[in-house]
Amino acid sequence: MRGTNSQYNKTTNLRLILNILTKQGAVPRIEIAKQTYLTKQTISNLTDTLDKAGLIQELGVKRKGVGKPTTQLSLNPNGAYSIGIRVRSTLIEAAIYNIAGQQIAYHRFPLERIEADKLADILEEICNMLMLKNHIDKTKILGIGLVLPASNRFSQVKDKSLSKDILELEEISKNIQKQLNDKIELPVIVENIASAVASKETFYGAAKDLKSFVYIYLGHSIDASFIFDKNIFIGYNGVAGRLGHLIVETDGRECSCGNYGCLNQYASLSALEKYISKRLKTQIKIADILGNAEKYEKHLALWFEDMSEAMRVGINSLENLFNAETIILGSDAPDWFLDRFIRVLRPFLPSVAQYSNRALPRLIRAPSDEKSAIKGAATLPIYFALTQDKQQLSTEQNEDFLESPIDRIIALIEHKQKAIV
Ligand SMILES: [Zn+2]
Repeated sequence: MRGTNSQYNKTTNLRLILNILTKQGAVPRIEIAKQTYLTKQTISNLTDTLDKAGLIQELGVKRKGVGKPTTQLSLNPNGAYSIGIRVRSTLIEAAIYNIAGQQIAYHRFPLERIEADKLADILEEICNMLMLKNHIDKTKILGIGLVLPASNRFSQVKDKSLSKDILELEEISKNIQKQLNDKIELPVIVENIASAVASKETFYGAAKDLKSFVYIYLGHSIDASFIFDKNIFIGYNGVAGRLGHLIVETDGRECSCGNYGCLNQYASLSALEKYISKRLKTQIKIADILGNAEKYEKHLALWFEDMSEAMRVGINSLENLFNAETIILGSDAPDWFLDRFIRVLRPFLPSVAQYSNRALPRLIRAPSDEKSAIKGAATLPIYFALTQDKQQLSTEQNEDFLESPIDRIIALIEHKQKAIV
């Protein structure tokens, strides 16, 4: 990453320094200079500004050999915070994280069902509670990262034949960002779960050193996120990565999107639930299946066989289209399940991914972390503050919201500067 010594690009430079400290922890000024190509003086001015705003701190000296001791800079974990919310069909998870990626608080709120007209109120209440209980001032919150259940329809036209729940979900996705933003006056970033977790892996996790990767989140539906040159690809209108609606079998199983043969109908966790329930002629919940694998082994084995060809096609399409450094597979499902999921896909279908010498396997399991999804949601505002320009946010996010997470950082800085004058 190259910085620029012009005054006009102060925001870019501030962001660059925060970005380095987020990913690398404690770093001496000289190392920042090496990585950004900024002059010593520019770095000194910028770090002063960040220090006064309480966003970074100086750590003790590190002595290397007999040379002069060097001061290390690191993020001040209490300098800024972010709220993550994941809405599931019968549960809301909410957490507050600091800018260094450490969890401050985590709560679960059971939900009978999602009601479109009440959700924004509930979320507002949860956010206020999180700030109050943890004594965190709103000025220090960069934004709210929100992950909603995936809506499985593409058309804007309401289809009366679909269940009320699906219609409501559609309404929610469209309105909740704006409603919550109006109520709480903080930036609200809505992304699919794969992008949320991918942002976390890019900043704090396994993918720190990768320039390009695809993150697949195996849930009730299969979502993907594309990271190119360390940036999350945001589709038109903020929608991308609906891998579960890739058609893998023409005239295959009917999907809620209106098409036939979508990958979701074969390899998602809801497909597994449906498959075993159908065989046993009774409704079995996914948690029951994953928690009692031995009991369901016979059916599980058949499902793995059933889904493998469809998922191979999915992986093959991603490789041929994107040819990223690797594909990472994450999920709420346990590790043994994901390991087996990957195993049954081997051998993978031939693709461009096998052309050159590979540094990483073609498909790898995400490291175990049961809080991965909620941490991902909370990382979104930090990720957007430090990497994405406002114009790179989706069209809708641009038009409706005056403030973005980076504006919150600038406000923190300016507020402190005024206070000092
Ligand atoms: Zn579909």
